[in-house]
Amino acid sequence: MTDKKKVLLSGMQPTGMLHLGNYEGALKNWVDLQNSGKYEIYFCIVDWHALTTAYENTADIVERIYQITADYIAAGLDPEKVAIFVQSDVKQHAELQLLLSMITPIPWLERVPSYKEKVETLGLDSYGFLGYPLLQTADIIIYRADGVPVGKDQLPHLELTREIVRRFNYIYGDVFPEPEALLSDAPYIPGADRRKMSKSYDNHICMGDPPDKIKKRVMSYYTDETKIHRGDSGHTDTCPVFALLKIYAPDEIDKIKSDCESGNTEWGCVKCKKLLADRIIEKFTPFREKREQLLTDREKLRKILADGAERARIRAEETMKLVRKALKMWSEQ
Ligand code: ATP
Ligand code: MG
Repeated sequence: MTDKKKVLLSGMQPTGMLHLGNYEGALKNWVDLQNSGKYEIYFCIVDWHALTTAYENTADIVERIYQITADYIAAGLDPEKVAIFVQSDVKQHAELQLLLSMITPIPWLERVPSYKEKVETLGLDSYGFLGYPLLQTADIIIYRADGVPVGKDQLPHLELTREIVRRFNYIYGDVFPEPEALLSDAPYIPGADRRKMSKSYDNHICMGDPPDKIKKRVMSYYTDETKIHRGDSGHTDTCPVFALLKIYAPDEIDKIKSDCESGNTEWGCVKCKKLLADRIIEKFTPFREKREQLLTDREKLRKILADGAERARIRAEETMKLVRKALKMWSEQ
């Protein structure tokens, strides 16, 4: 790692095993960015973020951290090339969030779309949950990151981060670069209920799910609601199964589109789902085997995370020194 390389940061919440949306929308892109050799990269497992929704059920978080670490590495992340670590191992994130909270107007947080949505769907109302995008801002800028590889759902959060950076730099002087989003080719994956595939909506297919579970979930997917009988013509542009087939069965996609839209009685939604389940199982079986193997050596995973945190802490503390100095805090005077 040299100073000239651009810095990237991204992370996932340990709210469950990773799913196809996490993979196609973010992780796949992370592996490519890592392998390009062009960046200094920090990949975080954001356990404090998980507390914003799962504060009553903290018992599973440690296990999920292991699961996600295995997901990361099985998908191709290499701890020799990138720092993989747990957010709560780098306490500087919390210090920076506290300082940022002083300059962040409350309405900026209240208007974040994922806040409004989760308030309605999950009934969340805590101060910590309102501050979620601010903690995310701290996660990113504490590494003075230039880029953040994420899915489309994260764009409003990143916009807020940029606004906060501008405000901070305006008040205290230039400390932080404004980070940019690095979107992947397939930025949005729908879940079984048509909403965004999400760990917390129970509408997801995990990369590490066994074949029978994948099959069951795929068969439960919504399709085009207007296609009731097999001979009805379908609308592929709004069908979530078709959206997934585009990714997992590109070789068949033209034929499926014409058969569905023309209402060919030989080809119905059940056949689409069976093909989709087969393709997902085929693609992710080697991944599942690798992650299961990694999970047999927890000590090794723990060591990887400890090494990653050590590297992350060096950069985070460097930033905090600049921040404390800019704020004229006691310790830097
Ligand atoms: P939660 O429900 O707990 O918020 P999540 O499934 O939305 O979990 P996150 O940990 O919030 O996952 O997001 C991790 C990364 O995965 C982010 O970069 C996000 O953009 C991406 N991502 C999550 N869901 C999808 C999706 N359905 N399609 C594309 N990308 C996604
Ligand atoms: Mg999310």
